[in-house]
Amino acid sequence: MSAEASQVPELREASDLALINGIARIALRYMDLRPMLQQIVHALKTHLACEFVACAVLDQHTHSFVCEALESDLPSAIEVGYACESGRGVVGEVAAAGRSILIADARTHANYIEPIVGARSELCVPVKHGGKMVAIINVESLEVGAFGDRVLLLETVAEQVAGAIAAARLNHELRRRVELLGMMSNLLRAAVEAVSLDEALQRIVVFVHRRFHLELCAIMLVDDARHRLMLKAEAGKSILNGESVPEWPTRMGVNGRAFRTGVAQFVPDVSVDPDYIMGNPDVVSEYVVPIRFEDRLLGLIDMESATVESFSEESRVMLDALAAQVAGAIHLTGTNQRLSEINREVAEKSAALERANAQLRAANDTLQRLSHIDGLTGVGNRRRFDQGLRSAWRQARRHRHDLSLILIDIDDFKAYNDGYGHLAGDECLKRIASALEAATDQPGALLARYGGEEFAVLLPRTGASLALRCAEQLHDAVAALAVPHRFARAGEHVSASIGVATLTAEMRFKPSEFIRRADRALYVAKAEGRDRVVLAGDSQ
Ligand code: GH3
Ligand code: MG
Ligand code: MG
Repeated sequence: MSAEASQVPELREASDLALINGIARIALRYMDLRPMLQQIVHALKTHLACEFVACAVLDQHTHSFVCEALESDLPSAIEVGYACESGRGVVGEVAAAGRSILIADARTHANYIEPIVGARSELCVPVKHGGKMVAIINVESLEVGAFGDRVLLLETVAEQVAGAIAAARLNHELRRRVELLGMMSNLLRAAVEAVSLDEALQRIVVFVHRRFHLELCAIMLVDDARHRLMLKAEAGKSILNGESVPEWPTRMGVNGRAFRTGVAQFVPDVSVDPDYIMGNPDVVSEYVVPIRFEDRLLGLIDMESATVESFSEESRVMLDALAAQVAGAIHLTGTNQRLSEINREVAEKSAALERANAQLRAANDTLQRLSHIDGLTGVGNRRRFDQGLRSAWRQARRHRHDLSLILIDIDDFKAYNDGYGHLAGDECLKRIASALEAATDQPGALLARYGGEEFAVLLPRTGASLALRCAEQLHDAVAALAVPHRFARAGEHVSASIGVATLTAEMRFKPSEFIRRADRALYVAKAEGRDRVVLAGDSQ
C-alpha cells in the first residue's frame, strides 16, 4: 500500500486519477469479463488519445492469450477472440519477461509485429494477479514515443484490471455453479415426478435438448442380456434423420466408440471424424457421455448440435454431471423396481402361507374334534370321557365340589344285534345317543360313549340326589324311544340299566375307584332285573 501511495503523486495529471476512478467504477458495474474489458479499453483509448488499445486474457486451458477487448481507429490484423501465439511478438516478450515493455520507435525493435499499419510506438504491460500473469494490455500509436511517460499509469490500470478479472472469474464460476445446481434440481424433480424410468429418461432428454439448444438428445441404455445399446428416449431430430432406431449397433458411430471405450467423446467438427455417421445435415458437433454407475456402463447420452458452442467446456462439465445424475436415477429406479417385485413376491407368499395356515388350522380343529368324537353316535368318545373325568375330578378336589358319574348299559343288546342284525344295532345306538344327549341338560354335563353299548355322563358340582334324578331322566329318555326289542329279557322295548356314583368332598378315592363304584351299581341294576337305576351306596 505504501509503495502504491508513493507512486500516486507521480501520476501527473488530475485526469489520470479520473481515468483510474472511471475504471474502478466500470469494474464494479460489469459482472461479465468481455463487456467490462471493452469499457476499460474504450476509456483507456479515449484518455491516451492513441490509435489502438487491446486487452488479451490468458486462457487457462490453452495457455494462449486471447484478445477479449479491442478498440482501434485503423483496420487491424487483430480482432476480439483472436488468440496470440504465446512467445510471438512483443506480447510474447512481455509474457515471458513478466514486465512492461515500452517501444518508443517500432522501427528499431526487432521483435515488433504491427497490429495496425503504420504503428510507431507501443506500450505493453502485464496484468498479474497473485503474482501470476492473467492478461496483457497493449496500446499502440502512430506517433513515435507516444507512451514514454504513460508506463506508470498503464501499470496502475493493469492492477485494477487484474482485480476486475479475478472478480469476474469468481462471479462467473459462482454463476456457473448456481446454474448447474439449478439445472440438476430441475432435472431431478422432473425425474422424480416421473412414474416410470422411461418417462424419467424422456423428461431428461427433453430438458437437455431445450436447455443446450441441441438438434438431438437421446439416451441409450445397455441391454445387459444381449450386450446391445437400446434407444430409450429421444428429443429433437431422431438419430438417423427421421428414422427412429430402437437398437444402435455398438460397432458404429461416435456412440459405438463411446460404448467401446467407456469414455466421453467430444467431436467439435463431425465432418472430420472418421466414425461419425451423417444423419441430420445441420449437425456440426456431437458429444456422447457414458452413463456409468460405479464400474458399470449403463448407457450413453448422445447429443448433437448445429453449433459447437452447445458443447463448450462449461457445458460439457454440466453434461458430465448430468450423466452422473442420470446414472443415479437409473440405478435408483432399478433398485426400486427390484424392491417392489420382491415386496410383491413376499406379499403373495405371505398370503399363500396365510391361506395354508388357515387350512391347516381348520384341519387341525377338525382333527381335534374328530379325535374326541365317537364316529357312530356323534357324542364324545372314550378319550373325551377320560379327559373330562380327569379334569372334573381335579376341579372337584380343588374346590371341594361333589362330582357324579352315571354309567348306562343297554340291556340285552347282544340279543338285539343277533335278532335284528348289526346295522339295526348301530341305528339303535345312534337313536339312544341322541335321546341321551337331549336328556342331558345339566350345565357342564358331559355325555360320552364309554364303549360298545355303554354310555357315561359326568355331572360336575352335582350331588347324589340330583344325579339320581338325572339318571332317571336318562333312563326314561331311552324308554320313551320305545324301540321294539322282541328278544329282550326285561320287556318288549330296548331299555337301559344305569349305575350312579357320587364323589363328595369327604371321599378320597381315585378316578378309577369312582368308575368302579358306578360300574358296581350298574352291575347291581343288571342283577336286580335290568331296566332300572341304582345309586352306589357308601358300602359299595
Ligand atoms: P346285558 O343286558 O347284560 O348288558 O346284555 P348285553 O347283551 O347287552 O351285553 P353283552 O356285553 O353280552 O353284549 C353287548 C353287545 O353289544 C355285544 C355287541 O355285539 C354289542 N355291541 C357293542 N358295540 C356295538 C356296536 O357298535 N354296534 C352294534 N350293532 N353292536 C354293538
Ligand atoms: Mg355291556
Ligand atoms: Mg348290555
